Amino acid sequence: MNAAVTAELKTIGHWIGGELVPGGSGRSGPVYNPATGEQSGEVAFASAEEIDRAVATAKAAFTDWRTFSLSKRADLFFRIYDLFDRHREDLARLLTLEHGKVLSDALGEVQRGLEVIEYVCGIPTLLKGAYSEQAATGIDVYSIRQPLGVTAGITPFNFPAMVPMWMFINAIACGNTFILKPSEKDPGASLVVAELLRDAGLPDGVFNVVQGDKVVVDRILEHPDIKAVSFVGSTPIAKYIYATGTANGKRVQALGGAKNHMVVLPDADIGMAADAAVSAAYGSAGERCMAISVAVTVGDAGDRLVDAITARLPKVKIGNGLEPESEMGPLVTREHRDRVAGYIDSAREQGATVVADGRELGLYGESDGFFLGVSLLDHVTTDMDAYRDEIFGPVLCVMRVDTYDEALALVNDNPYGNGTAIFTRDGGAARAFQFDAQAGMVGVNVPIPVPVGWFSFGGWKDSLFGDSHMYGPDGIHFYTKQKVVTERWPDPGTSSVDLGFPKTR
Ligand code: NAD
Repeated sequence: MNAAVTAELKTIGHWIGGELVPGGSGRSGPVYNPATGEQSGEVAFASAEEIDRAVATAKAAFTDWRTFSLSKRADLFFRIYDLFDRHREDLARLLTLEHGKVLSDALGEVQRGLEVIEYVCGIPTLLKGAYSEQAATGIDVYSIRQPLGVTAGITPFNFPAMVPMWMFINAIACGNTFILKPSEKDPGASLVVAELLRDAGLPDGVFNVVQGDKVVVDRILEHPDIKAVSFVGSTPIAKYIYATGTANGKRVQALGGAKNHMVVLPDADIGMAADAAVSAAYGSAGERCMAISVAVTVGDAGDRLVDAITARLPKVKIGNGLEPESEMGPLVTREHRDRVAGYIDSAREQGATVVADGRELGLYGESDGFFLGVSLLDHVTTDMDAYRDEIFGPVLCVMRVDTYDEALALVNDNPYGNGTAIFTRDGGAARAFQFDAQAGMVGVNVPIPVPVGWFSFGGWKDSLFGDSHMYGPDGIHFYTKQKVVTERWPDPGTSSVDLGFPKTR
């Protein structure tokens, strides 16, 4: 990478036991401002000793933290909410500087993270167990959910604030301690989050950050004192994390990549469907796991939708995310931008029609930033690379089919199953689709159906390994284990020896 280096290169270290740790492994990686192409920082990669220290610190903190009463925890999370709310602009600005997404989108990311905090402010209710009085004569039975211990989260570049919040907010609220391993591409937000948690009053050692790459991830996966691992990232790595983490006896939830299809029926409001497709395909430069990457048009919806989308493309304002008028920013790195652009050529060579080529954007050639314009590929088929791979950029594929059943088969035969959506004015068709679609999240006239904070987020098939979705009720379940207590208080002298299996009646 030939990017220039800014005069003040910030160094990004770890957070262990309530303190910044500069990092002493000698290994590190560059952090860029994607809008300018300049290197803005250098992130330290943790050594094995630093990771072990973070785990030991989190393990020691667990002893007290699990006894922190539920009402005190609820009180603390109200304070955490308040501090995050007051610093949402600072956090969003940092996201724009390291990730490239536009400021309004970054603020949306922080808002969706805040929803997760909102949910756990009710932790006293969420952790309530069940009680059966007189389950057998003189015997009461109750169930409780207890924290696991030290838990860890490994997160992707595309939501540097929200995805970690999906994990650590629930983990900590349930009484666990936590170690975050953020993406090495945009690690800065993790330290702002750590400071906000400390300022809100979270005891030292409950939340820790170790920066790094695969070496750090592997140490987390094998560390005997880490009881559970949450992961969000691409499918090959998610599979690896799930297989390795579970082989080491850990509870694992690993969310993977996506290829989200939006089915447009002939009766749909085409203007609304086109607005939705453009917003969901190109928002955040397509770097969202819930981005729409394939529009499947049924019957005569095809020409009408492609015309409507094409008419909207020149109006998408692309530029530095800090500029208020920008609607779409650059991609995260130059390598990723170039990989995404490669799919435009391969699709053309494999027979697709390139309706819009993002490389025609002025900023693509003229700027040092990692910009690519919006691309629209029509007549895409299942054998093309642009369909088979997760592109993760501002490229929308259009596939044309004759019937609803063919559209459904495309959704269901795809190896990914994160989100999908249908656009129609026919309630019966929409109901059939939500019943039959093989995906974890379904939108009806909603292109990005990310569940609100009191539901849970997760896909099916190659989009999730493990059985728990993230945040909401599944998050509480994942970060706790159940204990069932059976008790009796017989009067002295009333017991006798009975070698039979305990009877309830
Ligand atoms: P990635 O898989 O490259 O990296 C994710 C994390 O894994 C990072 O912290 C990274 O340091 C680590 N990692 C990378 N390579 C590794 C290796 N070989 N061994 C161990 N750890 C490794 O993903 P990314 O590029 O940061 O993020 C984009 C991907 O994340 C896309 O595939 C996107 O669909 C997916 N994603 C999924 C969801 C979801 O909820 N399903 C949400 C956001 C992003």
